[in-house]
Amino acid sequence: TELLAKPIEKIRTQMEDLQKADASISRIRELFAIQSEIKDGTGTPLPEGPLSVEFRDVTFSYDGDQPTIEELNLTLKPGEVLGLLGRTGSGKSTMARLLLRFYDPQSGSIALGGTDIRSCKLVDLRKRVALVTQNIEIMQGTIRDNLTFYDNSITDEQIIEVLKELGLGAWYEAMPDGLNTGLASGGGSLSAGEAQLLAFARVFLTNPGLVIMDEASSRLDPLTEQRMEKAVSKLLTERSCIMIAHRLTTVQRADHILILDNGRVLESGKREHLAADPNSRFSQLLATGLEEVLA
Ligand code: ADP
Repeated sequence: TELLAKPIEKIRTQMEDLQKADASISRIRELFAIQSEIKDGTGTPLPEGPLSVEFRDVTFSYDGDQPTIEELNLTLKPGEVLGLLGRTGSGKSTMARLLLRFYDPQSGSIALGGTDIRSCKLVDLRKRVALVTQNIEIMQGTIRDNLTFYDNSITDEQIIEVLKELGLGAWYEAMPDGLNTGLASGGGSLSAGEAQLLAFARVFLTNPGLVIMDEASSRLDPLTEQRMEKAVSKLLTERSCIMIAHRLTTVQRADHILILDNGRVLESGKREHLAADPNSRFSQLLATGLEEVLA
């Protein structure tokens, strides 16, 4: 066994290197998983801090025939929160894909921080806009890699502080190898709640200027629920956010509401105004409960 120790150790490190390379490649694939006609921009980086969002007469169709998004207009000031509502298939995720330039609209334009996103570098765009969904994709690699996307300027102290703040302190303490613990293999044993909280940790560490959040529609346990609520509050105070909302409590945090129906704006406006107007669709939704109407 003495004889074997060295070669085995060597194979182990090589495996780790390979896994790291594999993780980087999937990340790069993800970043560039785009249609060939998407042209990278050459413009300046997007501004620091919360980003304003503007959709101007945006029309988009997957098949070039039936529009999935039609003449959509939307303005968010930096730091504002949009509650995006609409039935399954109404076009909510498509809006997110357009913001990240997985597709470009056939007509109209989208601007972030006043810059047309077609003039941004794709890597920069996708660094400044985070997508937080119910299925966090865990890469092969360590906890650190998963939370920082290989950004070496983020320190261990920062990571641990964020984990503690999210209530993941005990979870982290139980990791055999600290931040170097591989997550991919252990990813399967992450609870849905832990996975969601890790997605938040990623956002707080990489600090995007716009977060698109597709809220988990399934119930979480009460403790995780409480932690999520806190995390969402923190998330919303420091950046612009588009929340694909499935719950009334979430909707209450929005400055603006936009209800999509079949790719068209059914209703949009300031949440307070819509909530105060008994004839608005929004106040009808509040009365009926989102779960039933938007299922
Ligand atoms: P939501 O997020 O509100 O559930 P989506 O944006 O996912 O709605 O879908 C809007 C419409 O676009 C639906 O009719 C859906 O079937 C269609 N769609 C979604 N993704 C694609 C795709 N990749 N190719 C073609 N059609 C799609």
